[in-house]
Amino acid sequence: MKITFLGTAAATACPLVFCRCAACRTAWKRGGKDFRRRSSVLIGDDLLIDLGPDVMSAAFAFGADISRVRYLLQTHSHSDHFDAGHFITRIADYAASDTLPFELCASPETLRHMSERLAREEDGASLMTPEWQERLNLTVHPMRHGDVIEAGGRRITAVGSNHDPNDGSLLWAIEEDGAAFLYATDTMKFTDEAIDLFRSRGFRFDAVAIDHTYGPGTPGGGHLCADEVIAEMERLRTAGVLAPSCRILATHISHEGMPLHDELSEFASAHGYGIAWDGLTVEV
Ligand SMILES: [Zn+2]
Ligand SMILES: [Zn+2]
Ligand SMILES: [Zn+2]
Repeated sequence: MKITFLGTAAATACPLVFCRCAACRTAWKRGGKDFRRRSSVLIGDDLLIDLGPDVMSAAFAFGADISRVRYLLQTHSHSDHFDAGHFITRIADYAASDTLPFELCASPETLRHMSERLAREEDGASLMTPEWQERLNLTVHPMRHGDVIEAGGRRITAVGSNHDPNDGSLLWAIEEDGAAFLYATDTMKFTDEAIDLFRSRGFRFDAVAIDHTYGPGTPGGGHLCADEVIAEMERLRTAGVLAPSCRILATHISHEGMPLHDELSEFASAHGYGIAWDGLTVEV
């Protein structure tokens, strides 16, 4: 399985748009791994997790042709993960032609919120009606914690996240050719139900991308900070759901309490994990 990180920032992106702090000034000088787009990943060339606002910027930078995507898994509908303006251009009114049919997986709450945002882009647009599903050339799969779907030779499991229960936020476990990848953002500490699901279904993850919104010693709401990532890795390890060589990569990195890439990577490698960057490709 080939995993390409298209973006590794939280909602604020890095550097933060109007910020003039020392870290942002240094990030502007260094560029490269210190420029972070809003989070999303591409699996192979046809499965996208989160159609975020920076997906096209990443596509141009990394040569990732998003028109080939056949499967979209949405973690939730927050604006750093879902760009309704991009999504609505699937309809012919935008001169889109020869679009590939598309399978969309998300929780019922996320689908409803995505629909509301689409209706603001295009009067009457909806993910729920057969007419609009046809216009958007897609099939909708409402999914809840524990639901499984086969897609493009992969087995995909929805895992409940406690990031935003009103949005029915989900994490995604993807299995392909004996390899397993867990995309775990946005989330707070894994729920007991999530750990039980990983254990009872015999998952042994070869790679985990994990919410790392806040830096060392900087806990915040709705997400994990560095210290909590370390504790959650230990929890997964103790539960026996990580392969011995499992690669754990932090993503959804914000501005708050966060050192720049090189310094943060030093901290992370001392604690047995890595820091993802935009354009990183991992094969598992
Ligand atoms: Zn987010
Ligand atoms: Zn700053
Ligand atoms: Zn969110």
